[in-house]
Amino acid sequence: MPDNFELEEIHFEGAMDFHVHCDYSIDAVGKIDEYCEAALARNIAEICFTTHYDCNPIGDCQGNLISINGEHKPTSIENLKPYVDDVLRAAEKFQLRGLSVKLGLEFGWYDNCEETAQKVKDAYNFDYFLCGIHEIENICFCCRSTYKKCFERYTLDEMVEKYFQTAIAASDSKLFDTIAHLEYYVKYAKDFYGDKLDKVYEPYLDDLFKSLIASETTIEINTAGYRHGVNQYYPNMRIINRAKKAGVHIQFLGSDAHRPQDIGYEFEIASSFVPNRITGTEE
Ligand SMILES: [Zn+2]
Ligand SMILES: [Zn+2]
Repeated sequence: MPDNFELEEIHFEGAMDFHVHCDYSIDAVGKIDEYCEAALARNIAEICFTTHYDCNPIGDCQGNLISINGEHKPTSIENLKPYVDDVLRAAEKFQLRGLSVKLGLEFGWYDNCEETAQKVKDAYNFDYFLCGIHEIENICFCCRSTYKKCFERYTLDEMVEKYFQTAIAASDSKLFDTIAHLEYYVKYAKDFYGDKLDKVYEPYLDDLFKSLIASETTIEINTAGYRHGVNQYYPNMRIINRAKKAGVHIQFLGSDAHRPQDIGYEFEIASSFVPNRITGTEE
């Protein structure tokens, strides 16, 4: 290594991180401004906050809660307002420093949630409405404390079929800009079912892609899989390539950051898979 070699800072000129939590999500730490500072430090051009909005009345996950200054409040349109105001405040503040900040939401999908989701979507002027599929038949498959309870009801094939039926229903709803972290079941299914997940999704891809194209819904490239130790994006590269080939629009990268230091996580390679331009909303 030459003497004058310095490890380059990570720079992502023009990159966008469109899946960012903050401490309004009960499972995330760090204030909105800290995430913005982290984005600036990495020369990211645009970030979109997508706090969780979970409201399945019969879900069994961590509770349907929004954290407001550390205080847990029930998820509701009213209790979302401090988050919305805070993001809009940050958007004004950080615009002056060259960072574009967008207002988004990760709405937690559950069966028959369409009417509720529409109301939430209409309540504020969101730039981006992201669908988070975290549960199958009302039990969360991506929390350490519940995934076994979710998966033990199904064989691997049954679980994957139900997951993709859910993803297709979410896409068909036309409510969302993007389905977040497709194939997210991989997070714990590898441990639960063993290493046989490679092609289980094959029978469902064509129908999902058709639905995504018809409903003009996109999928993101979510880099959190590398933090979760499953060594893949959500979805995996094979699905991403198949989706692109089928004509599914893939525009957004998401780090799914739950800590400021995770902004732009693993974007080095992932950013080459999406168009490199600033946007905020689909034109
Ligand atoms: Zn999610
Ligand atoms: Zn998320």
